[in-house]
This record gives sequence, structure tokens and C-alpha cells, in this order.
Amino acid sequence: MYATIGLETHAELLTESKLFCSCSAKFGGGENEHCCIGCSGFPGAQPSLNKKALELIIRAGFALNCEISRLTKWERKNYFYPDLPSAYQVSQMERPVCVGGELQIEAGGESRTIRLNRIHLEEDAGKLTHGGGKSFADYNRAGVPLIEIVTEPDFHSAEEVIAYVEKLRQILQYADICDGKMEQGSLRCDVNISLASVADTAAGKLGTRTEIKNLNSVKAIGRAVQAEIERQTDIIESGGRVIQQTLRFNDANGEIIPMRTKEDAHDYRYFPDPDIPPVILTDEELERFRAALPELPEARYRRYADEFGLPPKDAAIILNDKNVSDFFDNAVKHYNNYKTLAGFIIVELLRRVNLGEVDMAALPFTAGEFAELQRFVDEGKINRDIRKDILRDMIESTKTVKEICDEKNLWIKEDSGAVEAVIDSVIAANPKAVEQYRSGEMKVFGFLMGQANKELKGSAAPAAVKNMLEKKLKGHG
Ligand code: ADP
Ligand code: MG
Ligand code: ZN
Repeated sequence: MYATIGLETHAELLTESKLFCSCSAKFGGGENEHCCIGCSGFPGAQPSLNKKALELIIRAGFALNCEISRLTKWERKNYFYPDLPSAYQVSQMERPVCVGGELQIEAGGESRTIRLNRIHLEEDAGKLTHGGGKSFADYNRAGVPLIEIVTEPDFHSAEEVIAYVEKLRQILQYADICDGKMEQGSLRCDVNISLASVADTAAGKLGTRTEIKNLNSVKAIGRAVQAEIERQTDIIESGGRVIQQTLRFNDANGEIIPMRTKEDAHDYRYFPDPDIPPVILTDEELERFRAALPELPEARYRRYADEFGLPPKDAAIILNDKNVSDFFDNAVKHYNNYKTLAGFIIVELLRRVNLGEVDMAALPFTAGEFAELQRFVDEGKINRDIRKDILRDMIESTKTVKEICDEKNLWIKEDSGAVEAVIDSVIAANPKAVEQYRSGEMKVFGFLMGQANKELKGSAAPAAVKNMLEKKLKGHG
């Protein structure tokens, strides 16, 4: 049997306010703090469409090569559940904003095209919590604009699904469409899975599908896909039949749990929303939106690799997180040695980020200061070996690079007199080692170098120290 998978991804849009009212769309807030009569389902409130949300979904359409509908309209999707105060969700059925589209993914060493079916604009539901025999409804999320990106059933493995979600998330982040914070639920996926023989799959005869709802981490998506393929395989191999149903994945123990038998579209009694007029988009408007599309990850990759000459691996590491990439772009505005700056970010800054010492989204120093430090190193004003110590000081204090180097006297000494004085004192303090060296035990040289460097605290160029020490030991000084 062969698995076929289709994905529905919900992404909350980065708008200030909700889709049809002016309440805040910010994450968090006190219970029911971001609510008005409109988004809490009171009768009589008049919705008005958030223009920014429309712009962002069109932007997603351009980023994912969709066709943008010139006429778009909204329907009410009716169902009763306490997270939905008006007992319907405003969504799009007949005329979604974006139709078709595609995304190229790399998985298993192969490049594949995943076709999109549509992207539509709808409102989010509220949040329910349960405790002490009671249930509580918080409608802060109710009415927050969401886009739903629906793929064709084009995936055949967990690996492909993961590659798609990661790439999609990156595009949405770079285009400022969605923050992509899966752990906060601003990006989540429903996964549809079926099994059929290879021949039937090739002929387009897919098996009965199940749908796992609301997966909110890349890891959970991978595990859930794997678990559901195994569950369906077991059913079929033991002579049973898969039934069409909605499932939940228990992240704690990896179990698949049935929620309900799956509804068909007609169960929702979709009908046109009488309060929300259809939108007609003109060429001029679409052009304006297209022009506002920020630089996407692939274009940035080409800029880094082709224009800046970064090694492909370095470019990919920097691009992996938009905060890092933005930081790098700011740093190169101050100093254009792309390669050494990228190296410094990867080797030192990201190491500290990964250790949890600093947060890329809230660095205590500017990209300009960071670039300045690397410039001093490249210009031979600071020893490269102490770059990491200065960076640590920049993390722990609010001092500038210059202040740190001045205070700790870290500048490489131009005047050889200072180096000479230190070396003289090392030679005077270690007569035994000097004697050994002079009688042919060359390996004590390393020890004497170490003593000199300790004294100099990295404030002299290593080659200068070495030359001077050799000269003195050989008695030419
Ligand atoms: P719904 O909104 O009811 O979940 P859709 O028709 O919009 O249904 O399809 C949802 C997703 O399910 C799409 O991504 C589609 O590619 C996928 N899908 C449909 N049929 C199958 C199938 N037999 N196996 C796997 N995925 C499927
Ligand atoms: Mg679905
Ligand atoms: Zn509201």
C-alpha cells in the first residue's frame, strides 16, 4: 500500500485588528479582553472587511504562484460549537481569493512540486478550556484573520510533508504574512491521509481518507503522519476498512484518537454572507500589492550566494531564521566583508543563541556594533582570538566595542616596545626554560609563548610576539 497525503494549513495573519471588527488581533491578553459585540456574536453588529488582511492573503497568493480571483466573496459555514459565538464561521467556499498555485520542495534528495488547490480568507474561532467540571470560552482569537492554504493530495511521505511545512512557514515569515509561531498556534496543520495500491494511486483512485486536526509543531506533524500510516496499514492488512473520520494526535504518547465521523461540505449549509459584500479587485490594486511583496527567502538566498559570495551552507544557515537574516543584512550595511561577518554570526553568535545566552529577537547590541567588532578584527586592530570574549562582554553589558577594548586595553599594540618589554620580563622570569631552549629543547618555546600571551592578553599580533621571542631567545635581541 502507498500513502497519499494532502495538507490544510491555517496561518493567522499579521494584522493589527480582527477580520471584520476593530478589536486587537494580538496574541494573549486577559480573558475576553479583545472582544466586541461583533466578534462575540451579538445580533446587529455590522462587519466590515479588514483591508490589510486582504492585502496579506493576496501577497501569499503572489508568493505561492496562485491565480488571484478578480471577484471574491464570503460564505457562512454553519455549525454549533461553543468556540464559535455566532454559530457560523465566515469563510470562503465558491470564490476564494487565491486559486491554484504551487510550492517546490526538496525531500529525499529529490525536488518535487506540490500543487496548491486554493488559499482562502476566514475567521478564527475562540478558545475553550476545561476544568473543575466546567468549560470556559475565551473569544480573543474569535474573528482573527486566518488564511487556509489547501494542497492537492501530492505528498507520499512524512518527510515530504515536513519539507513543505518548513518551506511554507519560512515564506510566510519572510513575506510578513504570518509569524509562523507554531507553538502559539499561529500556524497549524490538518493532515489528510489515505492508503491505496501503487497502481490505484497512479490512476488517481485514492483510498478513504482520515483527517488529523490541529497539529502545531513540525515534529508532531511528522510523528502523526507516520503513526496514521501505520494505523491504516494495520487495519487494511487485518482485512478491515478505513472509515472516513476526524482524528486527533496525542503528542504525549503518540496515539491517534478518533474525534468524530467526518462531515461533508453540505452538512455545513454554506450560504452567502448577506452582510459582507463581494470584493472586486482591479489590476491596479493587484499591481500595488505585488509591488509591496517583501524579498522572499529564495531571492535572499541568491543575493547571499551570488552577490555576496557566501558558501551555500553559510547562506542557508543565515536564512534559516528571519531574525538572523535581518540582523546579517543590517550588519553588512555597516561593513561589507560579507564572508567574515557571516562566519562570525554562525560560529559565535548562533552558538550563544543556541546556548540560550541571548535571544535573536532581543539582542542587547546593534548589528552595527557587531559589524564594528569584526571590522576591528579584520583590520588587525584586535586579535581574532579575543573576538568571542568581547562579544560576551557586549551581551553582558551595554558597552560599545570601543569602550570594552579601551577599558580592558585589548588593542593590538602597534609599538613593538611594549611587546619587547613583556618578552624581556618573561625571559627574566623563566631562566630554566630559556636555558632548556638554548640547549636544543625547542618544545619549551610553546610554554614561553603562552607566558607572553598571558601577559599581553591578546593585545599583540601573534606573529609579532613569536618573532620577537625567537629573536630574543636566539640572542639577537
Ligand atoms: P475538507 O475541507 O472537507 O477537509 P477538502 O476537499 O478541502 O476537504 O480536502 C482537504 C484536503 O484533503 C486537501 O488537501 C486534499 O488534497 C486532501 N485529500 C482529499 N482526498 C484525499 C485522499 N483520498 N487522500 C489524501 N488526501 C486527500
Ligand atoms: Mg479539512
Ligand atoms: Zn471585535
